[in-house]
Amino acid sequence: MKDKLLDIFKQKFGDFGDIRAYFAPGRVNLIGEHTDYNGGHVFPCALTIGTYAVARKRDDDKLRFYSMNFEEIGIIETSVDNLKNEEKDNWANYSKGVIWALQNEGYKITSGFDVAICGTIPNGSGLSSSASLEVLTCFICQDLYDIDIDMIKNALIGQKAENDFIGVNCGIMDQFAIAMGKKDSAIFLDTSDLSFEYAPVVLKDSNIVILNTNKKRGLGDSKYNERRSECEKALEKIKTVTDINSLGDLTVEKFNELKSVINDEILIKRAKHAVSENERTVEAVEALNANDLKTFGELMIKSHESLRDDYEVTGIELDTIVNEALKQEGVIGARMTGAGFGGCGVAIVKSENTNDFINNVGNAYKNIIGYDASFYVVNIGDGPVKF
Ligand code: ADP
Ligand code: MG
Repeated sequence: MKDKLLDIFKQKFGDFGDIRAYFAPGRVNLIGEHTDYNGGHVFPCALTIGTYAVARKRDDDKLRFYSMNFEEIGIIETSVDNLKNEEKDNWANYSKGVIWALQNEGYKITSGFDVAICGTIPNGSGLSSSASLEVLTCFICQDLYDIDIDMIKNALIGQKAENDFIGVNCGIMDQFAIAMGKKDSAIFLDTSDLSFEYAPVVLKDSNIVILNTNKKRGLGDSKYNERRSECEKALEKIKTVTDINSLGDLTVEKFNELKSVINDEILIKRAKHAVSENERTVEAVEALNANDLKTFGELMIKSHESLRDDYEVTGIELDTIVNEALKQEGVIGARMTGAGFGGCGVAIVKSENTNDFINNVGNAYKNIIGYDASFYVVNIGDGPVKF
């Protein structure tokens, strides 16, 4: 990949000067969905698939972007001055947003760069290609402009870009999982204070399989913001009877005691998911640390049920692919992952059954939904690297 991208870079931008290569992973969340903006726990891991970049600093103020994933768009050209989200700049707005966020923090980026990008993550499928691009861009800037920040700050810069430049109100999980990724470990992150620990994911004779419904999110982003505001409303009501900062501060038991104050069936269901999912995530990490993969899998299934029934963010495609997954031999657990409304599921499957699993789920999904799903057997990788 690096060699091909290097060739493309030279072809588009010329073969001279100090050309550097970088990579940032994608991520999959194993459990803890829609908890990151509710002050709860999440349990994502970085993947060995991700986004590659080749870049070279310029002497003038120009920024030039090219992506092999968006060849038809060609080179996008802009400047480091007066950065704003502009439709004409298409995907490069994610990178511009990161440069803008760095400038806002006082880092001097007055000269531009040329960059060619190639991603091996499907876009818009819940594996966070956008956060991968953001963390990658920040990592490139750190290197090209000698910006001395740690990788947690990198993640916060990426989130700032996505929230305030792109306009997607995401929590910190995606950028954090990517910036702080560690081979063969998932990150048990408390989003209320960013405290975290790495938990080894030793699957021995099992695989992590991504189940891509190939259904694009569509209305997803607006529904995402709707769920956020529903949780905020529920929190406001609960705060009138107890002193908490976020839904993540509540146990399920305490929530059941207090929930009647919310006085709205829908809002109660949304909050119930946030609270119960947080508790499941804590239990799941305990199970994994105790080598109890069976319990981990059961909690994944309960997570999906809660996202389907209480949070209502699954839909026919995700429900079908997870249902079919759970019928197969050798499946330990399966659930939707990411924001929902389409995108991907994630399953843990015994290695010896993985081929049959993919064939059977693929066939059943096509019969019911009418088009193909895609499957990726993935490995857990490190955070960004320069190579
Ligand atoms: P997700 O983060 O779940 O993959 P998003 O809709 O949040 O989905 O982000 C996808 C967008 O991120 C793409 O439409 C594109 O604008 C940008 N992007 C991600 N990867 C690349 C890439 N390799 N090249 C160019 N743009 C990319
Ligand atoms: Mg995204």
